[in-house]
This record gives sequence, structure tokens and C-alpha cells, in this order.
Amino acid sequence: MTDKNTATPEPISNFIRSKIDADIAAGKYTRDGLPNVITRFPPEPNGYLHIGHAKSICVNFGMAQAYGGRCHLRFDDTNPEKESIEYVNSIQETVKWLGFDWVSNGTAHLHYASDYFEQLYVFAEQLIQAGYAFVDDSTADDIREQRGQLHQAGTESPRRNRPASESLDLFRRMKAGEFAEGTHVLRAKIDMASHFMTMRDPVIYRIRYAHHHRTGDAWCIYPLYDFTHCVSDAIEQITHSLCTLEFENNRPLYNWVLNRLVEIGALAQPLPEQTEFARLNLTYAITSKRKLLQLVTEGKVDGWDDPRMMTLVGIRRRGFTPASIRLFCERIGVAKSDSWIDMSTLEQAVRDDLDAKAPRAVAVLKPLRLILDNFPTEHAEPCKAPVHPHFPEMGERQFVLTRELWIEQDDFQIEPVKGFFRLFVGNKVRLRHGFVIECTGFDTDAQGNVTAVHADYFADSKSGTDGSNNYKVKGNIHWLSDASSVPAEIRSYDRLFHDEHPDAGGKDFLAALNPDSKHITQGFVESCIADAPAETHYQFERNGYFVSDRVDSKPGALVFNRIVGLKDAWQKK
Ligand code: ATP
Ligand code: MG
Repeated sequence: MTDKNTATPEPISNFIRSKIDADIAAGKYTRDGLPNVITRFPPEPNGYLHIGHAKSICVNFGMAQAYGGRCHLRFDDTNPEKESIEYVNSIQETVKWLGFDWVSNGTAHLHYASDYFEQLYVFAEQLIQAGYAFVDDSTADDIREQRGQLHQAGTESPRRNRPASESLDLFRRMKAGEFAEGTHVLRAKIDMASHFMTMRDPVIYRIRYAHHHRTGDAWCIYPLYDFTHCVSDAIEQITHSLCTLEFENNRPLYNWVLNRLVEIGALAQPLPEQTEFARLNLTYAITSKRKLLQLVTEGKVDGWDDPRMMTLVGIRRRGFTPASIRLFCERIGVAKSDSWIDMSTLEQAVRDDLDAKAPRAVAVLKPLRLILDNFPTEHAEPCKAPVHPHFPEMGERQFVLTRELWIEQDDFQIEPVKGFFRLFVGNKVRLRHGFVIECTGFDTDAQGNVTAVHADYFADSKSGTDGSNNYKVKGNIHWLSDASSVPAEIRSYDRLFHDEHPDAGGKDFLAALNPDSKHITQGFVESCIADAPAETHYQFERNGYFVSDRVDSKPGALVFNRIVGLKDAWQKK
């Protein structure tokens, strides 16, 4: 089953919507030919997107969608050393996979902050000329020292009041490559006594002799985030610049830069406005690109798309559907204060999405031989089951029951624990969609491991026949016949970390790695899915939701990833 990108239902009301509603009512962004709501998702292409970004994508694209506006995808690519085209490509693919599009009315709103380098540079010169910025050759340490402390004003740089013409000349020479890295910076001239540290004459340009993945060696000065971001928003005529709470302290600076540019005639009203919302923190997960990178480079996982990784490529490979992630983001909502969301909320979203869509099939993950000693040797009893129990239109699966079958190792116990209703000597269970059987014995190898289970079947007990009602059994187990199954590799994953908050408070998250988070078994799946294309989702009866691995699975060499287990009473027995 592939995802149909079903539309996300109307998002619940939240403070961002209230703000947008108020802006629309006031006519704040009424402009010719432009929608009232233009948002943007602005990732830095320095890594793969993670589940936290999914929230930001759903908020930004979702809000634009809800108001008939548009959302831009903008690469915030101003740190050339850490960025690459590999990340740019993956981010685009992931946004599309999630079901969103930056094309609106036939126009692609795919942007790069680097597209604005020239414009940003011109604006910077204008700020210098207006006395709002100056070139400083204080050392990085001096600048840090000058900033002061939270409750103590900073000190002004001795260069702060140099003539604009001098700063302009130096800035041009910075651009021309006359100075070494770290020797000169351009700083906004704001207020060294501001309560906002970000307003204490922040650096807005620095020298970097780095090759940029798009602009090559054209530039040796690069604008910093606080200058780039607000200006990029304004150039793109963004209305609502939605970002996470950690940028709250940057908002005064965002507004300062834009208002100064309006004042000097470089930009026009209405200006974009920044609104912050809580970032997503997910238990048992890491959502920091830097730390995810560390897991990859130190070989703790099998790459960015390892199915245990909370990167969106990892989550996708694990089998989470785009609809399930959108559902998850909708359920967690948009709040103003940070909180932790439990991993089980994400897991439940994929169950809820797949329950209605995923075809059913049988898989035996850890096979154990079951021999029906009184079953005719050459006989193959035809059996059937619905592809989906609630949607008969999805059809029926046909398979056979034979003398020798595969069952799960876990469905047999030599000494049954209390409450175990499945196979043990003397107990009766139903083979799902087949016969009732009674366990008669088992074989072991020299080490005492069970190698086969023996049982007798009751010929008049077949599911769907009148006789089946005469048998009341508590256990109902799944099985496969050699004649109706094919081998498959089964990859069962558990949470990557055993600590709910693996990196909270600066903890060493590597120490919280679950050493037992990946299990590979050689099992069998029903032959009706022998040709399963890659990335097809199933519910394996009694076992959970699975997906054919999008990288490794091929007909003839099937590989399935366990997405999540079923929320099912079976698990407890
Ligand atoms: P990281 O800290 O992992 O490097 P980042 O915040 O630097 O992530 P960006 O590429 O700068 O990543 O983020 C793009 C957008 O995604 C930003 O607007 C940011 O606010 C948002 N974002 C990042 N992490 C989360 C999160 N955990 N929850 C919600 N939004 C997030
Ligand atoms: Mg960032």
C-alpha cells in the first residue's frame, strides 16, 4: 500500500491562527495579487531533516494551505563550510514526501538565502551609510568581552563611532578579500545596554574564505543568520515568519533590521512578523542535526536513514507514512511553551493511519515447525481470509494448510506460564482461518531446544464451517504452510535510546544507546505478498505493522521492517 497523501483535516484552532485571523481582519497583508498568508520553511542544508522539522513543515505549509496562501521552501545557506547539495536534495525530497509543495499557482517558491547575497550586501552598505552599522576590527574575544552580561550593560567598541565613509571603505575591502578571516566584521549599531543580548551591536557579516555550494568562490564575506533571515523574509514578501521559541530573543533584532531598512527606503511596509511556537521534543529521541551526524559518523547507526533514527529519511525507511506524521503533528498541536511529547504518540499515529489502509497478511518472524501428525501427508486444504477485515472490497487471500507448518516460537511453551493460552501439551488452539488443533508433544535437540511441536487436528473444526462452533478455544495462532509462504528477512527495531531524555541537561547521549535495538530474523511471509514492491505497508496479523524495506527489499529477496507492534491483548499473554 502506498500513501495517497490524503489531505490533513482542518488543524485545530491555536494562537497562530488567532494572530493570522486578526491580521486578515485588520487588512494588514492585503496586497495586490498576493495571498494574505505567505509562510516559509527555512532549513539550513547542513544535515538531514528530523521529526522536529516535520512539525515546522506541517505548521508552515499547513497554515498556508489552511488560508489559501503559499509556503516557500528556503535554504538558509549562509554557513558554507557545513552545507552541501546532498542535504539540499534530501530536504526537498522529504518535504515533497510529507505531501507538501512549494509550487503555488504554477510558480515554484524554492529559494536560497544565497540568492540574496548581492541584495543583502547592498542593504548592508545602505545601513552603513545611514550610520546603522560599522566595521569593527576588534578581536572575537574583545567583542565577546564588550557584550557584557545579562544584567550588566556591555561596552561600546572603540570603532563604533568611526565615520560611515571609513566603515564603507573597510566593508568594500572586506568583500574584495583584502583582510584575513576573523580580522574584521560588520556590526549593527544598536544598543550596548539593551536587555536583549542580541541587540548589543550584533555581528552581521564576517569574513570566510570558504567555497559555497552555490555561489562558489564569489564571496568571502557571509551574512549572519540575524541579518539574512529577516531580510530574506522581507524580499520574499513573507507575512508570518513562524519559528521555534529559541528565536524569541532574536525578534527585537529581526524587527530592528527591517524597520531601519524601511526607514532608509530600502524596504516597504507591510513587513513580515515573526511568531514563535514550541519546538518538538520527543522522548527516546535526539533532534539535533549535530548529534544525529555524530551517530552516523561514529557508526552507532547504519546511516542517516537507519530505521531507528528520528531523521525523516529514517522514519520513512522504518515505514512511517506521510499521513501518519501529519496526523501526529496535528495531534500534538501548536503551543507556546516547550514540552515533551511521548514517542508512543508517534507510534499510535502510524497505527491509526495504517489500520484502515494496510492489507493484512501473515508472517512468521521466528519460525518453529508444527507437525499435524493426523493430517494426510499429501493433502493441501484451501483456506481463505480477507485482505482487510473491514473492507471486503479489498478481496480475499487464498492459501493452503498442510501437514507441516510454521508457527512462531513464542506461541509454544513447554511449561506454560500462568495465563498462557497458546500451545502447550494438552492444550487446544485454533489455527487462524484453519482448524482447531490439540498439542500432543514436541521434539528437542541435544541442547534441549524445541525443534518441532506435534499436534492433531480436528477435521470438523474448520473456520467458516458449522462444525467450528463446537470448539471453544482461548488461543488463536497464526501459521504458514511451506506451500503458501516465501522466506523473508525480518528487521525488528526497538527504540535507539533506553533513556527517555537521552541528551537532556547536556548528558552524554551515546551512553544512553540501547545496545539491543535491532534484531534480524529469517522468517516467512504469506506468498500473496511475494511480489511486494519496496515501501509497501502491511499489517502482519498478530505481529504488527511492517513495511518492505525501500532500499533492500526485492521480490525473491524480501526484507521487512517492523514499524510498530499492534496495540493488542496478544502482546500481554
Ligand atoms: P538543529 O538544531 O538540529 O541543527 P535547526 O533548528 O538548526 O536544527 P534548521 O535547519 O535551522 O535546523 O531549522 C529549520 C526550521 O525547523 C527552523 O525554523 C526551526 O525552528 C525548525 N525546527 C528545528 N527543530 C525543530 C523542532 N525540534 N521542533 C520544531 N521545529 C523545529
Ligand atoms: Mg539552526
